[in-house]
Amino acid sequence: MKYPCPIINDLLPLYADGVCSEESRQAVMEHLKDCACCRKEYEKMEQYAAQNKKYDFAQAKSTAFISTDSLIKVRRELLIKRILTAAVAVLLVIGLTAGAGIFLKNNVHSVVYNPDSQNIRVVQEPDGDIIARLYGTEWESVYSRTIELEDGQNAVIFSMTSSSWDDLMIGDNTASEYLIAGNGKDVGQIEQVYFLSQPVNELSYDQLTQLFANHPEQFTLLWEKQ
Ligand SMILES: [Zn+2]
Repeated sequence: MKYPCPIINDLLPLYADGVCSEESRQAVMEHLKDCACCRKEYEKMEQYAAQNKKYDFAQAKSTAFISTDSLIKVRRELLIKRILTAAVAVLLVIGLTAGAGIFLKNNVHSVVYNPDSQNIRVVQEPDGDIIARLYGTEWESVYSRTIELEDGQNAVIFSMTSSSWDDLMIGDNTASEYLIAGNGKDVGQIEQVYFLSQPVNELSYDQLTQLFANHPEQFTLLWEKQ
């Protein structure tokens, strides 16, 4: 034998792929004729290559089996799915927004006086009307009650409710006005106006006067007759 088996073994892959030089090809061919061992190695290699090819072919075939029609169908299904997803998302957003709006609208609470921002102010207009102004939130309801103080003077106690929606939507520089006392006769009897950060309407007259006597710190004096 012209060449030792290890050299032929090294050449076998090139030979099998048909990429070796003509000289090498001749040498391998001659060697394979006489050497059963290397021939066996070569056959194994061929078998393996054939199997791989078969595998590749099967892969190619399975891809080829997806016809254009079914591809279009798949694409259409994807498009419909995408449109449905978008529609559901839009509906969900609308639903959530409406739901959140209704929830916030219904979430009514007492307006609390903030001494820093003085969100509630009471002023007397030139025409004599006593006006309460609420800044930064729209009121839902205003409750007021006139009580007689120990010294016989009259005071108006008022409270306001607002919704969470208004807290969110109404800017701080927006003011809503509420008439505490109109026409001269009413105004003339009022000496003081207090704000209470809890619903006045939920207290009876007696409860209110008792609260005023026992916890004056809960009442904020916002206006006093000059
Ligand atoms: Zn050999």
